[in-house]
Amino acid sequence: MSDALAEAKALWAGVDLGGTGTRMVVADSSGGTHAVESVPTRSFAGSAPDDAASLLVDALLDMIPSGSGLVGVGIGASGPVDLTTGVINNPDTLPWFSGIDLVGLMADRMGLPVWIDNDAVVAGLAESTWGAGAGHDSVLCVTLGTGIGVALIEGGQPRRGGDGQHPEGGHIAVGGTGSPCYCGLDQCWEQVASRSALDRLMVRHGLEPWADAPREVWAEYASQLTRGLITHTSIQRPSAVVISGSVVSRWDHLREPLLTVLANRDYGDRPVEVLPGTMGDEAGALGASLLPQRRIGHASSGATAGNVDPR
Ligand SMILES: [Zn+2]
Repeated sequence: MSDALAEAKALWAGVDLGGTGTRMVVADSSGGTHAVESVPTRSFAGSAPDDAASLLVDALLDMIPSGSGLVGVGIGASGPVDLTTGVINNPDTLPWFSGIDLVGLMADRMGLPVWIDNDAVVAGLAESTWGAGAGHDSVLCVTLGTGIGVALIEGGQPRRGGDGQHPEGGHIAVGGTGSPCYCGLDQCWEQVASRSALDRLMVRHGLEPWADAPREVWAEYASQLTRGLITHTSIQRPSAVVISGSVVSRWDHLREPLLTVLANRDYGDRPVEVLPGTMGDEAGALGASLLPQRRIGHASSGATAGNVDPR
């Protein structure tokens, strides 16, 4: 087998486990997708605690194109994810995948290395590798969804806390949020600037969620968004900020008020670029496919057994 053929047949699986939907991709090392599936996350519910892992393995094995082989599997999950044990601890959003040895069960069944990370991290990996942040050494990826996921990707790797865990940057205090956060604090940024917060803002203005809102509503949301962005960019000083999530589809409305607020801040002699993400709905799954690639590199062929390392 030629090296070129072996490389073409070596593919990576990426899974984006969300509270509502799960997206799975089989991709090559260039981010090209060879198979894509989206299913309701509840379709992995089973009668036994470990059923979700088996059902996810079955779904991935069905996606492998004939003549190809998987080299590794990556999973991005709606956190919290314990990056030491690989165990998801999110019984509210991911009850079927929480509290089980998902990584170990899948690795045993597939004979492949399996890694897991926070969903904000995998979105950041995709955007910094193939998306809007490509070419920047330091990318702060902010994903606006039910909450706010924040990941700082430096030199292709996510910034960790001193304990090896993912820093929850959506829960920085911004003041005046008016509503307590589920995390126990009462000033969390994600309470006023997540996609869910945008929907609530529109309702307060008498609009339907996700409606075509007038400029002043977008200006108010941009103001909320910048309250946390300013803190993050001041502390982290990334070379680019990438905004990810469904709000990007309304970038035409958000861009001008967002940049207007940010332009009034002094970042010193190096302005921070704020860019809309370009990876779309596949950012999480494609980014997850990078988790094994960053650990084991470009395998020439076949499966690399064992080597389960949830970090
Ligand atoms: Zn919080």
